[in-house]
Order: sequence, then structure tokens, then C-alpha cells
Amino acid sequence: MHESPPLMLIRAATVFCPAPIGVADILLGGGRILAIQPDLPIATLALPVKIIDGLGLWACPGLVDGLVHVSGGGGEGGFASRTPALNPGDAIAAGITSIIGALGTDDITRSHADLLAATRSLQASGITGYALTGSYHVPVTTLTGSVRADLTLIPDIIGVGELAIADHRGSQPEAHELARIAAEARVGGMLAGKAGTVLIHVGDGDEHLRLLHAVCDAHEVPIRQWQPTHINRSQGLLSAALAWTRRGGSIDLTTSTTAALTASGDVVAAQALHWLFANGVPLAQISMSSDGQASLPHFDAEGELLDLEVARVGSLLETVRSAVIELHCAFADTITTVTRSPAEIWGLRSKGQLRVGADADVLLLDPAQIEPVALIAGGRLHLLRQ
Ligand code: ZN
Repeated sequence: MHESPPLMLIRAATVFCPAPIGVADILLGGGRILAIQPDLPIATLALPVKIIDGLGLWACPGLVDGLVHVSGGGGEGGFASRTPALNPGDAIAAGITSIIGALGTDDITRSHADLLAATRSLQASGITGYALTGSYHVPVTTLTGSVRADLTLIPDIIGVGELAIADHRGSQPEAHELARIAAEARVGGMLAGKAGTVLIHVGDGDEHLRLLHAVCDAHEVPIRQWQPTHINRSQGLLSAALAWTRRGGSIDLTTSTTAALTASGDVVAAQALHWLFANGVPLAQISMSSDGQASLPHFDAEGELLDLEVARVGSLLETVRSAVIELHCAFADTITTVTRSPAEIWGLRSKGQLRVGADADVLLLDPAQIEPVALIAGGRLHLLRQ
């Protein structure tokens, strides 16, 4: 990390907002994007400006990772299998500038206070951290006593989750219980100006998204308040999700996987993304997240744990690379699913887009390999490769 003068200019990069606008300069100052236009007459300002040569590079928003177990996760194989907290350097190296942290299966030995502290500690690296209240389980555990109060009173708590459905580790919630939690999140979100999105961990049970459809059939909760994730855990779930997207719902793909998981039916996220594009699912309804620091458990047919690995935040950009280079997905479309789409789904208005007034979170990539060259996170420059 380099200390930077108040103004920074990225000169002549090919800019993806994430919509492509061609070659332009990007002026940053005070932690915000001040201007985006070709040939900015910066020399006339007579102010110290840090110039970054963007010629031949692609500039896009810093990535928004919608699910990371920031304070560690797992523990499903006993205490020795708990996974460690996120190293912020891993996120910076992977071009990530916004992270939404969540608890997972374990809400007994891990707490929302710890999660909040872990997400706030990211700020020292320039990463903007947010947190979710609740966990896998119903009734939900919270910080202040209710989902509504957590959303209303805690600035960095922006939603609920991940609540587990179709999973043997979940609480097997009923439709009315989910509806009540979403209503609490909605009201708390309205009071505090947040989206109040509810993240749903979809397990490998055959019921797929049936419960969410039932909630939307019988209750007044808007469909866009739900964000079901792990949709690429099987082709069956991915196919079932098409009906959900046709209804207007959004879906989230998980980029972390393992050889054992793909052998047992996980669809690699890049392939799932390609498949969703081919099936005409609108970009605004698709996001991807890393599920970083989660344990990736391998269960046998009886549901007994065999072993587990730790999910990596780096898988997010690796998936973009694979989708673009190997599967020939359009870069602008692919990058939208890890920038603007998750930012909009989570109600993060100053994130996920390169536009005047947005936060100064900019990723510069070498287009040949989709490799990070530099990252500006919260207006601070991290030169990754020169
Ligand atoms: Zn999950």
C-alpha cells in the first residue's frame, strides 16, 4: 500500500462502468470518483496528482463479494475444523473492495459482535465491510434482540443471512417463519434506508427453491428481497432457478468449489454463469460471491462428514477470468455480476459502478490474463503488479 496525494488520475484506460464506454481518464479524490471523461485537462489544475498509466488496461469497479465468512466459518467436523478469519490481503490481491460478512452454521461459538468487528477491521485496508444479522437457523440470533433493531440501529448490518433451506444443517423453517424474518428486515431496512435483503443458503435437498416460491405465493414480501445463493451446487437446482428468475427473483452463484464437490455434482460457477447467459437471465438478477473462509465439507451418502477445505475469496476473480477467457463470455456482462448486480441487490448505492460521486473503488486489469495490475480501494492505491 502506498500513501497517495489527494488526487489520483488513471490515464487512458479502457473503462467498464461496468457498461463499456471506451477509453477515458478517471479522476479520484476525497475517496470518490470526481470525473470520468477522455483527456481530462488535469495539468491546468496545478495540484499534486498521482498519475497511473492505464493505457492498454481495463478499468472496472472494485469487486463486491456478497458472501464471505469474514470472522471464520465451518466447524462441522468438530472444533478442529473451524476455519480462520479472512486475511484482508487476500481480498486486495483478488480485486475485492466491498465484502458482506456473514455467520454460517455456527452461531454458538461465533457471534455477531465478532463478525461486526471483523468486517470493520477490513476498513484499515480500504475494503468496505458490511455484515448480516442472523445465521443458518430459525429462530434467528441477532445482536440487539431483533432483526428489525439490528437493521435500524447498526449502520453496517444491511441484511439477514444466510438462512438455510433445503439443507440437513438448517432448521427446516416454515414459509411463514421466513416471511416474518423478511418483513422484519424490510421494516428495519426502510427505517434505516437499506435494502434489507435476506440471503438464503440453498442446500442440496431436492426441494430446491420450493419454500421461497411458497413464501412469495402466500405472503406480501417482494421477491427481490430474497437472494438465494449456492445456486450452482447442482444442475437440478440451476435449472429450477430459471423459474425463480422468470418470476423476477435474483440468484447468486458460489465461486468456491473443490474437485470433490464438482465430482459430486457442483456446477463450476463460470459454466453456470455461461449457462444462465445462454438462457437469457437478465444481468441485474445474477450475482456471484466467493463464500470465502467457508468450510467446503464433503459428506457421504448418509450425510456423514468425510473432510473439508477452506473457500478462497480469490475464486471470485478466477471465475471471471475463466468465464471470459475459456468460455468467451463478454467481459462487461461477466464483471457486472460481481460489481453492479450485487451492489444493487444489497442496496449499496455508492458501490459496484464507476460513475461520478461513487466511491473510489477501481480495479485495473491486464486484459490478456484478467490479472490485477492495481487496485484503488476507498481512494487508496494498492499497486499489485507493474
Ligand atoms: Zn451457505
